[in-house]
Amino acid sequence: MDGHGPALDAARRFADRWLASLPDRPVGVPADPAAIRARLGDLPDDGLDAAAVLGHLTAALEPGLVASGGPRYFGFVTGGSLPVALAADWVVSATDQDAAVAVMSPGAAVVEEVAGRWALELLGLPSEAAVGFATGAQTANIACLAAARHALLAATGWDVEADGLAGAPTVTVLVGAAAHATVVQALRLLGFGARHAVRVAADAQGRMQPDALRSTMAGAPGPVLVCAQAGQVNTGACDPLDAVAAVVAEHANAWLHVDGAFGLWAAASPRRRHLVAGAERADSWAVDAHKWLNVPYDSALAIVRDGAALATALSVSAPYLPLGEADPSTHTLENSRRPRGIPVYAALRALGRTGAADLVDRCCDLALLAADRFAAGGVEVVNDVVLNQVLLRVPGVDVADLARAVAEDGTCWVGRTLWDGAPALRFSVSNWSTTPEDVDRSVDRILALRDALAG
Ligand SMILES: *Cc1c(COP(=O)(O)O)cnc(C)c1O
Repeated sequence: MDGHGPALDAARRFADRWLASLPDRPVGVPADPAAIRARLGDLPDDGLDAAAVLGHLTAALEPGLVASGGPRYFGFVTGGSLPVALAADWVVSATDQDAAVAVMSPGAAVVEEVAGRWALELLGLPSEAAVGFATGAQTANIACLAAARHALLAATGWDVEADGLAGAPTVTVLVGAAAHATVVQALRLLGFGARHAVRVAADAQGRMQPDALRSTMAGAPGPVLVCAQAGQVNTGACDPLDAVAAVVAEHANAWLHVDGAFGLWAAASPRRRHLVAGAERADSWAVDAHKWLNVPYDSALAIVRDGAALATALSVSAPYLPLGEADPSTHTLENSRRPRGIPVYAALRALGRTGAADLVDRCCDLALLAADRFAAGGVEVVNDVVLNQVLLRVPGVDVADLARAVAEDGTCWVGRTLWDGAPALRFSVSNWSTTPEDVDRSVDRILALRDALAG
């Protein structure tokens, strides 16, 4: 064994090459899993030295890598990595701390505590809320809704942690009609059942309608769980959270959860904050860091106003675990885990309030630029572009054909969806390094490919 140096040097050389290539390399790649599998080979009898493994691994991997961290990847809602966040993530790997309990890494625990507090400030959420560093908005939604399940049933005298859901009072679950699939997944896993969740009508942008919520809630038996949203994944629209919170507050035992995977970051921008006004009135919030904050995967925050509810729902106990209520593992689904709050701290420290606002505004302004250019080119912009999402219908061509042509061309990458039952193209701007030139170049190319397809 030659120590860590040679392997880390090999990783560094590859990373430098990869990152430098992001602005120019073809964004998508033709899938060829068989070729990658063939290069990886079979499990060998004898080991190989670390640097050689790195060379072999990166050579096999690279042909299958998508430049999704680069400036012209507009698929899904995909952030890149701020240089400072990537570097901090390397420190996380190098130090290999377990963030489960504070005694295993007092440093990691305090950095995460500070990162959590700063995130609450930036997002305009209550300073007393508990923050868990989750792997994504999916697991953050689960953590938040586990806290909700605990609190709503405890208020009726039912101990769901001890007795489960069989025989428990029925919780009425209300979800916006355009909610993200991961909220429904969380409800499934928590035993509420996807079919049991009542869909609340939404408007043409996907915003939950407060009047529809009021009439759906009226006469609801037992405790009520309402799942609202900041940032619809296709349109970027945010539920009218202030009005939604007012309706929820009329009920004696109700919990308001906000899935704000990317949309809650609007709060960091003075120009866009109004879109999520009232968010602070909710009981829990799920928000990604790996999307708009541009930290490496996998990173999100599960935020719960009533920290004791979160801790009761998620804490484990064993005689060897010196667990206190403030220990990080009481806020996450994971027990042992990497301190993924460290890159979040680094990102927030590097951006500051101004930089965070600027990151949000830049992406939103670029989405507006894209929308204008598409509209001028005869493409229909379906949504009100309030945030970083642009939803497009392309007269005269099949959206699937166009998305495939864009992927094969490699200038940029865009996704597809169904909106209002009809196929549409999604163009999402979430990367810190995207420039107006990247948007121009991408729109030009998409329009040219559209023309070629339309014949
Ligand atoms: C992306 C997204 C999620 C899921 O987040 P992951 O980070 O993929 O777990 C949930 N809700 C919304 C609104 C999203 O955009």
